[in-house]
Amino acid sequence: MSGGKSDKNVPVYLDLVPCHGCGACAEIAPELFGMDQDVERPFLKTPEGPEDSVRQAMAYCPNDCITTDE
Ligand code: SF4
Repeated sequence: MSGGKSDKNVPVYLDLVPCHGCGACAEIAPELFGMDQDVERPFLKTPEGPEDSVRQAMAYCPNDCITTDE
């Protein structure tokens, strides 16, 4: 039914252990990530999001903190 790029939702996971708080995720995908300025670390706004947004955030995170299921 839907053609072209995926607009389905996929899970998004955030591992803060390797995160150094660059803020790229929150800039690239503000619908998925916010930044906690007190600790300079991101937080997830939602447990899942549009696949394109999740994959773009995964690609931009320099420390591979962001993952999904597939
Ligand atoms: S892009 Fe990655 S390293 Fe940078 S703040 Fe987000 S999760 Fe942390």
